[in-house]
Amino acid sequence: MSALIDLHLHTTASDGRLTPPELVKLLAESGLKYVAITDHDSTEGVASAIDAATLYPGLTIIPGIELSADPPQGEAHILGYFLDLDDYDFQGVLAEFRAGRESRGREMVDRLATLGVPIEWDRVEELAKGGTITRPHIALAMVERGHVATFQEAFEKYIGQTGLAYIQREKLAPEIAIELIADNGGLPVLAHPARYVSNLEGLLPSIRKAGLVGLEVYYKDYTETEQAELLELCGQYDLIPCGGSDYHALKTPEEVDPGLVGPPLESLLRLRDMAGDRGRATLGDLNG
Ligand code: AMP
Ligand code: MN
Ligand code: MN
Ligand code: MN
Repeated sequence: MSALIDLHLHTTASDGRLTPPELVKLLAESGLKYVAITDHDSTEGVASAIDAATLYPGLTIIPGIELSADPPQGEAHILGYFLDLDDYDFQGVLAEFRAGRESRGREMVDRLATLGVPIEWDRVEELAKGGTITRPHIALAMVERGHVATFQEAFEKYIGQTGLAYIQREKLAPEIAIELIADNGGLPVLAHPARYVSNLEGLLPSIRKAGLVGLEVYYKDYTETEQAELLELCGQYDLIPCGGSDYHALKTPEEVDPGLVGPPLESLLRLRDMAGDRGRATLGDLNG
C-alpha cells in the first residue's frame, strides 16, 4: 500500500528538478492526499504548488521548509511545517541564507577551476532556475561538462564533505534553526536523523528543549530496525513520528518516488492540532 502522506518534497525552488506544478501533478497522480513542500531555505515554491493543487481537490499542500544546521555532531536538517509565508522577518532570514549559499557556490566553482575541473557559474545559476543554489546544481553542471560520470561521483570526489572542492555553508546552530521556525509559528521537525547526525541522542535533549516537535521516522530507505529505533526515541522524547520521500526528481538510483514512504494519519492529526488555527485552516477535519 502506498502512503497517503508525504511531508518531505523538493521543487525547483531549491534542488528538486520538477517545478511546483509538475510535482503537484505527479503527487496527485500518485494518489497522495496530504503533502508538504519543503525546499532548502525557501518557501518560494509553496504558493504555486497550492495554486496548482486547486486542480486536484483531493490533494492538500502544507507550507514547509528545510533548513540546514550544524551541531557539533555533524549536520542536522530541520524541517518546518504550517509556516506563515507572509512573515517578513522570516523571509528576510531566508533571503540571507540564500545569499550565503550563492557566495559559497561561487567559491566551490572557483576551487573546482583550480583543480582543473572548470564549470560555468552561469550554468549553475541556470540549472537552479532562480531557486536556492545547492551542491546538486554544481554536481549537475559537472556531469554535463563530462568531468564526472555521475552525480554521486561529483559528491564523492569533489563536493561531498570530504571532497576536494567542498566549502561549508555559514554555520547555523540547530537550536537557532528551530527557534526561527517556531517564531514563525511553524512546527520544527528533525529531518533524516539517522543520515547526517552522529550521536543523535547527544543532540536530542537540547533540540527538544529548543522546541522540536517531531522526528522523521518514515524516510526514503530506512530499514524497519532504524524506524523502530527512531519510533522508540519519539516515545522517549515525546516527539511526533513524521516522514516523507525527500523526493528531488534527480533520477538517481537511490531515489524513492513520492508516496512510497510516509507517516500515519495519526501523526498528521497531532501536527494539525499543534498548529492550531493554521493547522485547521490548511487541513480541515481531514475527511477529504
Ligand atoms: P547543500 O544544501 O548545498 O549543502 O546540498 C545538500 C543537498 O545535496 C542535500 O539536500 C541532498 O539533496 C544533496 N546531497 C548531499 N550529499 C549528497 C551525496 N553524497 N550524494 C548525493 N546528494 C547529496
Ligand atoms: Mn536536497
Ligand atoms: Mn536534508
Ligand atoms: Mn530534503
